Amino acid sequence: MEKIESFLSIVENYKAVFLDSYGVLKNFRGLIEGVQETLDFIQDRGIEFRILTNDASRSQEQQSESFTRLGLQGIPPEKIVTSGMMAKQYLQLKIKGGKVAYLGTANAAHYIMQANLESVAIADLDKHDLDDIKAMVFLDDEGFDWNYDINKTVNLIRKKNMPIIVANSDNLYPVAKNDVSIATGAIAKLVESIINKKFIHFGKPDTQMFNFAFDDLNSNGRAFNKEEILMVGDTLHTDILGGNKFGVKTVLVLSGNTTPGEVEMNIRSSGIIPDYICESIVG
Ligand SMILES: [Mg+2]
Repeated sequence: MEKIESFLSIVENYKAVFLDSYGVLKNFRGLIEGVQETLDFIQDRGIEFRILTNDASRSQEQQSESFTRLGLQGIPPEKIVTSGMMAKQYLQLKIKGGKVAYLGTANAAHYIMQANLESVAIADLDKHDLDDIKAMVFLDDEGFDWNYDINKTVNLIRKKNMPIIVANSDNLYPVAKNDVSIATGAIAKLVESIINKKFIHFGKPDTQMFNFAFDDLNSNGRAFNKEEILMVGDTLHTDILGGNKFGVKTVLVLSGNTTPGEVEMNIRSSGIIPDYICESIVG
């Protein structure tokens, strides 16, 4: 573990970089100042990049548009890998026909539609007619009634034995300097603990997203090996643990979930050790 002053002096030694989105490129205020220069630096040097995000509420296209809206240029949809895409891939492979129930916004349900399956919001589910329901997905923390629909979810899962998918494993996300909001992963864990079942979790720290991004890098004619890739994130138990498990070097930035005051204690108590620690990806 090494504290570094300049992110650019580290990233220039790699052929590819995986960047987390929230807490690295942007935060609750918007774009982190100076990230455009870092992205330009990366691209000017021919370093490949992919954005690896546990956001399953929006498509690659919508996430790309949101970067553009915030003022960050140069992130096309194909450079973005979302945990929702991993859930979609799973649905495509494992669920043949029928309907998929979901918790989340109608917008997030496009991942189910892309898998050529019919989606039904938990709120619209007829609890007396569950024959066609072949899977259930936790997609987003918004778009439903937390009391009514979570209760309905618990009862659905008690009645139906089927794959339950968690498309975003995050527990929390920051909404202000000192405040967080409960994310989808935490809602899924609540339901898991109530009914004592284990669901299928997608997103960092699981390696599917890393594998996907790695295969994608290697599909364009260039050959990358893991020593040439750097993973950058603001969260120890998703970004850094995931990068460490995948076998790439990791940079923890202090511009998001992990603050300068907490970093030492968080590393010691979690046992998750980044290779480098840096204030942010700027400079
Ligand atoms: Mg983050």
